[in-house]
Formats: sequence, C-alpha cells, structure tokens
Amino acid sequence: MNITFENGNWHISDNPTIGVIIGDGIGIDVTPVAMKVIDAAVEKVYMNRKIEWKEILVGEKAAEKRIPNLSEEALNEIRSLRVVLKGPLTTPVGSGFRSLNVAIRQKLDLYACVRPVKWFPGVPAPVKNPEKLDVVIFRENTEDVYAGIEWEKGSEGAKNLIEYLKKNNIIVREDSGLGLKPISEFASKRLVKSAINYAVKNNRKSVTLVHKGNIMKFTEGAFKEWGYELNSEVEVNDRIADAMFQQLLLRPDEYDVIATTNLNGDYLSDACAAQVGGLGLAPGANINYETGIAVFEATHGTAPKYAGLDKVNPGSIILSGVMMLELLGWQEAADVIVQAMQRTIQEKQVTYDLARQMDNAIEVKSSEFGKKIIEKIKK
Ligand code: NAD
Repeated sequence: MNITFENGNWHISDNPTIGVIIGDGIGIDVTPVAMKVIDAAVEKVYMNRKIEWKEILVGEKAAEKRIPNLSEEALNEIRSLRVVLKGPLTTPVGSGFRSLNVAIRQKLDLYACVRPVKWFPGVPAPVKNPEKLDVVIFRENTEDVYAGIEWEKGSEGAKNLIEYLKKNNIIVREDSGLGLKPISEFASKRLVKSAINYAVKNNRKSVTLVHKGNIMKFTEGAFKEWGYELNSEVEVNDRIADAMFQQLLLRPDEYDVIATTNLNGDYLSDACAAQVGGLGLAPGANINYETGIAVFEATHGTAPKYAGLDKVNPGSIILSGVMMLELLGWQEAADVIVQAMQRTIQEKQVTYDLARQMDNAIEVKSSEFGKKIIEKIKK
C-alpha cells in the first residue's frame, strides 16, 4: 500500500510500498545489501510487517531500457510512493542538468538535506575523540549558488549584466564569469523550521545557524536573521561558517542540530563525515516536510572503478535506510540494524575502506558485510 501523508505525518501500513532506485556504479553492490538488511530487521522485529520494494528506473538503468535518465514517469512514481531509498547516480555529461541527484532534489522540491553524523565505536577516525561529534546537519537544498544561475565569461548574458552593473556604479572586470546567489526568506525559514522541529521531536538541545553573514549580509546574514525570527522551543544560536569548522574540531560536543545554507552545508557535511571516519558510513536524506516526499540516499558517489566488484562499504545506504525507518516510525527495526552493524564493525569484519585502516581487521565483501549484519539481527 502506498504511504500517505497528512498534517505533517507519514502514515504507513504493515505492508508499505517503498520506492528503490538501485543507482549506477557501486549502486548495484550496495543498494541490494541495504534492502536485505532492512527486510531482515523488519521481519525480526515485527513478524507481520514487510516492505514491498518497487524499483524506479533512473540513471543508467533507465538508459538501458531506452527511457530518459530521469523521466516524468519516474518523478511521478517518487511523488506517489513518497518514500524512496536511492543509490548513487552518475552525472551524465551534457544532459542539461549538472547532476541527476540535484535534478531530483530540485524537481521534487526536496528542500532539506538531512545528514546525521556520529561516530561508530571501532571505526578509525583522524581525531582523538570522534565520539564527541554527534550532529544532524540540515542543509538548504534548493537555493544559493547551487541554483545554477551563471553566465560564462564573454557571454551575452555576462556582458549585459556587467553593463547593467556599470550603470549602477558597480564595476566588475570585463573578463569575469558571473553567478547569482539567491537566498529567500521563504526557503530559509522553512529549512530552519524543519531543523527546529527535528530538534524538538528528537530531544536535541540546540539549533545552530551557520552562515557567512559578516561578508554576505543580504543572503547569508539574512538567512541568520530569518532563522532567529522563528519561534523555537529549543535554543537557537549562530556561528560564522569559518569559525564553525574550527569549533567542530575543537569543541564538537557543544553542537547538536545545525541549519545552514546550501554551499556551507555541502562543505560541513563532508568535513564532519571525515572527522568520524569517512563517507562510506555517512547517511543522508532529502526531504520536503510539507509534501511528505523523502528520498534516502547514500552520500557517496558511484565510485566507477569499484563498480560490480562487491567490494565497497554499504554502510552509508544501510544507515540511510535506518533514517527511513525512523521517519516512518519503525524505530525498533532501525535500532536493531544500528546495533548489529556496530557489533560487526567492532568484530573488525569490515570492507576494504575500513579494513586498511584497522589493525587485525578481516576484510569482507559488500555482500558479506550485509550477511554478517543479518546474522546478528536474526540472533
Ligand atoms: P565517489 O564518492 O563516487 O568516489 C570517490 C572515492 O571514494 C572512490 O574512488 C572510493 O575510493 C571512495 N568511496 C566512495 N564510496 C565508497 C564506499 N561506499 N565504500 C568505500 N569507498 C567508497 O566520488 P566521485 O568519484 O567524485 O564521483 C563519481 C560519480 O558519482 C560522478 O558521476 C558523480 O557525479 C557521482 N556522484 C553521485 C552522488 C550521488 O548520487 N548522491 C554523490 C557524489 C558523486
């Protein structure tokens, strides 16, 4: 049965239909593993519940069937199913979109990119106390320099704009490429509001607005001001982006939920993921909390050189599946997966990316890592 959405809540039957985009490259290695782990956890915890997976053809899988990489039909399927687990997608050259992933987010207005970052005991990390970092980053997904409003050096558009600016006594070098950074009150407030709602619901202590308002007053600075205008039941504070990078290294335990603009969020998410041991384990979701559409995705790319080798870490998409179960209210199944994965890592039965950094690790294939987790779930 399709998942429904009313008054800000997802409603789910015992047999919900959930969309799955297998993905390109290593998508074929990691996505099926995640589906099996999720199925095993649901079966173990609830017995009478079962997810019906419905494959949605996007990317190379669609191209093989001679349909567009991202067809209107695929988008409509995501809209009607509402909840989708997604593997990584290759960015096709010359498609008109810079990235299929960005296209999905923009076409479905999935405005909140949500990335929880926390350390798993046993995972090698470059800092002394990785356990001190436990944050959830809410990154605005639809605006900022990512809106793709740009003019190439020497183009008609660039010349016109430079001319217009000159008339307003703003001098820009003739040989400049130009880009626009739109930040609206509407998009900023809905993003910060979703971060505050998340913090309240999950008993988090604060929301930190991260911005570069000291330099970009009417975009980044306005983001901060609009954020403070919202009512909040948790503490809201703010930090300037460059200082925030230092703070997350030096005083990670002082931060909790982070709400930020698109580009800052991009940099911060990867920096935080690296701090706790890398992208192979970092989950993510792109959500619209008003329309109830949510795409849970591995945060890494398609790593073409490892595609089909059954070698890479399926942790990122498994943990994205955990986020999915949490959003749907199947918390017990989510918890069982996290515990089983934690134990598998502590036993040092890990894929190559972690194995090469651990002493006495046993390197396992993607599928074997999944099987080890499932064995623990079933016990
Ligand atoms: P990438 O994340 O695909 O790979 C970079 C390197 O990271 C790999 O060579 C590998 O060493 C490592 N790596 C990535 N995922 C791993 C995993 N699960 N386990 C172990 N190691 C892993 O980044 P890239 O090479 O810059 O991009 C390749 C393609 O992926 C491009 O077409 C890009 O557009 C696309 N991409 C897609 C997404 C997405 O679907 N959300 C995100 C980033 C990049």
